[in-house]
Amino acid sequence: MNIASARHALVTGGASGIGRGIADALAHRGVAVTIADIDGAAVESTLADRTGVFRLFRGAVLDVRDREGWCSVKREAEDAFGPVDILVNNAGIGFNGTDFADLDPQIFDTVIDIDVTGVFNGVSAFAGDLRARGRGHIVNTASVMGLTAGVPGRGVYSAAKAAVVAMSEALRAELAPHGVGVSVLCPGLVRSGLDDSTARLGGEVRRVDHIKGGNAGMAPETAGDIVVRGISIDAPYILTHPHYLGNISTRYDSIA
Ligand code: NAD
Repeated sequence: MNIASARHALVTGGASGIGRGIADALAHRGVAVTIADIDGAAVESTLADRTGVFRLFRGAVLDVRDREGWCSVKREAEDAFGPVDILVNNAGIGFNGTDFADLDPQIFDTVIDIDVTGVFNGVSAFAGDLRARGRGHIVNTASVMGLTAGVPGRGVYSAAKAAVVAMSEALRAELAPHGVGVSVLCPGLVRSGLDDSTARLGGEVRRVDHIKGGNAGMAPETAGDIVVRGISIDAPYILTHPHYLGNISTRYDSIA
């Protein structure tokens, strides 16, 4: 499936930042979009800005940790716009600034529950249907921090995002024979609400120097464009800006 034949996308975390950029990019290509987000007020304001701009754009309140919530959001979305053929598991929170030795186990659980289990819950709700229909695409948002983990204080976030990268890779192998594509979006620094979620957990707001070689930053709209271009079974598995991968590849030295 490619973007021209896509009909209905569900984007979690679609009421802010990268998710909103992805939702807009898909809607601009004529795809019906359902955004699902825990923040009801942000869902409302996102919808208000888009009513009359996009033909088919709706919103739902969902905590991605809530498996029953996934079932009802799926049912309502598909009643409104038909079967979802693009699932974007993008909702997530950040955390930064506490070494593992000092990390509150509740913060560990919260980050893993939202950033990893939340992605699995989306996959669990939709992957079987996509496989049965033999078409569709799943995009999971990880991070460059899931590809490079040697930054003190960012370990839980890196572990969560590395889990998303690994989960996506397995899912791609499982679904490709059935005609369903899987990609993992690995942004670098994007200005968004992510630092607010970090601050709410008592973490530090990020510095921009945590990736070797610097980090120029990326607009949410750019992330949206990268995702749209990655909706193809033949597209590269990791979706990101090349300069991030250039920085990361130096980490994988091996002993020959
Ligand atoms: P953001 O805070 O602007 O957007 C995240 C959205 O997810 C928010 O609307 C929030 O309400 C929603 N959300 C949070 N917890 C949720 C839950 N339990 N259930 C449903 N929705 C929930 O941040 P963003 O930067 O746009 O983040 C989007 C994704 O991109 C995240 O997975 C994040 O880890 C990842 N990411 C961000 C950056 C960055 O620099 N901003 C870099 C790499 C990866």
